[in-house]
Amino acid sequence: MAQLQRIAISPEQFQAERIVLTQEQLHYLVRVLRLRDGDKFIAMDGTGNWWLAQLTGDAAQILQQLTVETELPVTVTLILALPKGNGFDDVVRVCTELGVGTILPVLSDRTLLKPSPQKLERWQRIAQEAAEQSERAFVPTILEPISFRAALPLIAAKQKYICEGRGNYPHLLNCLRKVPIINEQEQITIIIAIGPEGGWTETEIEQAINTGYQPVSLGKRILRAITAPIVALSILASELESMDV
Ligand code: SAH
Repeated sequence: MAQLQRIAISPEQFQAERIVLTQEQLHYLVRVLRLRDGDKFIAMDGTGNWWLAQLTGDAAQILQQLTVETELPVTVTLILALPKGNGFDDVVRVCTELGVGTILPVLSDRTLLKPSPQKLERWQRIAQEAAEQSERAFVPTILEPISFRAALPLIAAKQKYICEGRGNYPHLLNCLRKVPIINEQEQITIIIAIGPEGGWTETEIEQAINTGYQPVSLGKRILRAITAPIVALSILASELESMDV
């Protein structure tokens, strides 16, 4: 399936073959993802039901129900400070294999180089190939790079983590275990932010904390910027997929 954005819909928004969208959802679809009238997206109700929907005005038309077996039960959005060189290609490939929903590349205080539009197309192609190879039902969305500060309030989620190797923060796994990550009532989005080679600045960590991010550790060693997202996603996927055994 093409690169389709997923959004969470609560049961009362479903009306026969239509979905009534909230202002927040409309804003996200139209302003953030730049969907136009007639574009398709995936609506999820948080209980394992996924539908293909089409934006029509300020509502959506349900086109068909989808069968999903290889997707994570939550939507994982990775905010990744762009590393130098071609390291990002591998991050996109491996994170797609591990089940990421959306990747938002960001420019941070210590990464200022804006990638060319060709790079974005390249990452989208890599995500497409990796999704096919790993038998994913959907191709992750790779958003256009923006500044880290602009990214902080952009995506709504109850669980937001910023990874920081120094500072004795609680381990990501412990934080995930403290809150229910699968909820029968709604589809949960989890955001994980990873810094660049030079790390986050103190100001960036503070700003993230002020917008509801929990700083977390991924273990006692300092990981490379391209290793850290893979470790974070592996921890999350293991926690989620070992639950029903
Ligand atoms: N040069 C920095 C390290 C940057 S590592 C320093 O010396 O501190 C790149 C990014 O990977 C970090 O910003 C952080 O988001 C993530 N990271 C690396 N190791 C980590 C760890 N042990 N715990 C949590 N995050 C880590």
